[in-house]
Amino acid sequence: MARRKKIYEGKAKILYEGPEPGTFVQYFKDDATAYNAEKRDVIEGKGVLNNRLSEFFMLGLNHIGVPTHFIKRINMREQLIRSAEIIPLEVIVRNYAAGSMAKRLGLEEGTALPRPIVEFCYKDDALGDPLVSEEHIIAFGWASQQDMDDMIALALRVNDFMSGLMYGVGIKLVDFKIEIGRVWEGDYQRLIVADEISPDSCRLWDIKTGQKLDKDVFRRDLGNLTDAYTEVARRLGVMPANATQMTKPTLIN
Ligand code: UDP
Repeated sequence: MARRKKIYEGKAKILYEGPEPGTFVQYFKDDATAYNAEKRDVIEGKGVLNNRLSEFFMLGLNHIGVPTHFIKRINMREQLIRSAEIIPLEVIVRNYAAGSMAKRLGLEEGTALPRPIVEFCYKDDALGDPLVSEEHIIAFGWASQQDMDDMIALALRVNDFMSGLMYGVGIKLVDFKIEIGRVWEGDYQRLIVADEISPDSCRLWDIKTGQKLDKDVFRRDLGNLTDAYTEVARRLGVMPANATQMTKPTLIN
């Protein structure tokens, strides 16, 4: 059988041509990278977990009327997605200070922010994805003023959905990153959530113990990454297809 045409290979995923125009197949690899790929490893099973978790989050978002690129999961590692023109920005939403923000502003990690804060980083590995302002984004034409308003509204809806979902299973959503793409419907363009939403792109802390259940486990050598992601999947009732038992979301008292 002819191999699908590869469109793009990133650090954690591969994009292949889809079965129909306007679609791609997104393949989740087991590769983990951090600090702009200075630290790297292959973590068996990570791709399978992220495929399932991203499916779960994107389906939920679609369900509440937040448009995403997700169409359907094809198998353990692949999902069918809508092709979109990715805006070259990482859209970060923060509820608590952590990571680069804690460092930049001298805040203790875990400090609650007065309200969710949306940040934008310009996607450029060679530059280390620098933080940029609305002024930069509009002046350089990466997005329009209308796009900015739409991106912020979209990001905050994703934040409310994800925060609530996580709170229900005893997890604090500290921050997360999404990517946003443009799709055309006739003469109209609209923005949709693209890429992935998974513990690779969120900070997730257990509410009671503060235990980290996200990629910081890998970045900071805090233990076994698949165990952490499996715990998130288990609490949400999302298990890999080969799991022997499907569980319902577990309420944490
Ligand atoms: N993030 C991401 N990809 C990136 C940079 C950040 O998914 O290239 C996520 C990261 O997992 C965290 C949030 O965005 O949930 C904020 O990351 P931060 O700016 O604190 O960067 P870091 O400390 O990871 O360098």
